[in-house]
Amino acid sequence: SYQLVWLRTDLRVADNPALYKAMSQGPTLALYLVTPEQWKVHQDSPNKLEFWRLSLIRLAEQLQQLKVPLLVRCVPRWVDVAEHLIQLCQQYSVQTLHFNDEYGVNEQRRDQDVQQRLSALGISCHSYLDQVFFAPGTLLTQTGRAIQVYSAFRNQCHARLLHHLPKPLPRPKAQQPVGIPPDQIPERFSEVEAISLSDWPMGESAAHSLLELFVSEHLAQYAKARDFPAQTGTSRLSPYLTAGVLSVRQCVQAALSLTHGHFDTQHSGFITWVDELLWREFYRHILHAYPRLSRGYAFKPETEALLWRQAPEDLAAWQQGRTGFPIVDAAMRCLKATGWLHNRLRMIVAMFLSKNLLIDWRVGEQWFMQHLLDGDLAQNNGGWQWSASTGTDAVPYFRLFNPITQSEKFDPQGDFIRRWVPELAHVSAQKIHNPATLGGLFGISGYPRPILDLAQSRKRALQAFKSLSSHQ
Ligand code: FAD
Repeated sequence: SYQLVWLRTDLRVADNPALYKAMSQGPTLALYLVTPEQWKVHQDSPNKLEFWRLSLIRLAEQLQQLKVPLLVRCVPRWVDVAEHLIQLCQQYSVQTLHFNDEYGVNEQRRDQDVQQRLSALGISCHSYLDQVFFAPGTLLTQTGRAIQVYSAFRNQCHARLLHHLPKPLPRPKAQQPVGIPPDQIPERFSEVEAISLSDWPMGESAAHSLLELFVSEHLAQYAKARDFPAQTGTSRLSPYLTAGVLSVRQCVQAALSLTHGHFDTQHSGFITWVDELLWREFYRHILHAYPRLSRGYAFKPETEALLWRQAPEDLAAWQQGRTGFPIVDAAMRCLKATGWLHNRLRMIVAMFLSKNLLIDWRVGEQWFMQHLLDGDLAQNNGGWQWSASTGTDAVPYFRLFNPITQSEKFDPQGDFIRRWVPELAHVSAQKIHNPATLGGLFGISGYPRPILDLAQSRKRALQAFKSLSSHQ
């Protein structure tokens, strides 16, 4: 009989609790389920699915070295997963199923169904904490509720991590060959063509090289450089973290090389980066504590009454990078072309859509999901609700980013804008943030005039939010 490890968003062999445990208990098979209909329901982008597929190809090579055959089966929808697993377990005499926890509502429902139905047949299921340091539901306020404020959450995490920092597990040792051939990995996971991913080296060892490079070259400057999209100030590791090619434990472990192994440090680069990883942790805990987030509802129920605008032309201008605000347009074009966007730009464009355009944040959340390589329900939803002031610990509704001042501050030379908006390539650093001031009857050839007046749109947003509080 066999141990079966079901791999999902944990596409790595090192520091993989489910794989490690399975292999420590006996001859192991690995399984990956291709679930195209479910991915469609979740709006998972073709770009991300291709990232996952290429990562899986690399993972299969790693598993081959460990002599663990990788079975790859297509089960279009998660409702059918339990049935498929039962058949598979019977076919291969599987004794125990192992998997790492995931936190969306559909993920949890799927796993509970699997657990119940397999246990009823005498096949045991073991699930493991993997994506986060602490199990969601275990960090609570004094009154026993989920912590809704990031700073309090972060402080509790720090205190616990200081006391005990979970270390990555080693890569398991190869097992004896089991004589079961691995399956082929499909040619594609999505009917829709993905963008080219040639800029993203694939696989665990490539991801570790990127992590090490980031730690040695950029982490020291991270606290200062992380806000400037034209620089390589951040790690760009998010697609690897989302696919689970890297674990959060490995990230912190690598970063410790900067602080001589001390978690208790004043090093601003280290602290700031760990804090960002803890935002990721925070949003997973929040997603778990408030299932309504997975169902498309706002964290703050009162904001459901906001009168969002139906404005298809404005929405299209935002999506296609034709708003006439260069930093917004550069960002949106970059997102579409590369499937990735710098955090500062995600905040700018999310606020522009939800506040200046007063278009429902869910529409933007969906657009991001349909393009991002790192699209992740917890973080994407968290980021959008933060920006739209509908979320937990969100930006106060009256603090709107001004896209022109943001642009002047965070892309001072206009380098990022020039890269993505070639119409403005010849405009000076001084004028590039707000080319409408250049005047002329036709503006800049080929570049749109601003689709809105910033002051008026700001007033409109404030009114919409104010009328909300007067109705309570
Ligand atoms: P680094 O700065 O190197 O940070 C390291 C890691 O910490 C990141 O890879 C990420 O896992 C985590 N992290 C960093 N910043 C944040 C943050 N603000 N919130 C939560 N986690 C963070 N991140 C996603 O991974 N997937 C998403 O779908 C996603 N959608 C977002 C949508 C909006 C509107 C906003 C404002 C943010 C979103 N983020 C999302 C968070 C953040 O923008 C990205 O994680 C970050 O830009 C990734 O770049 P990096 O890997 O270079 O990050």
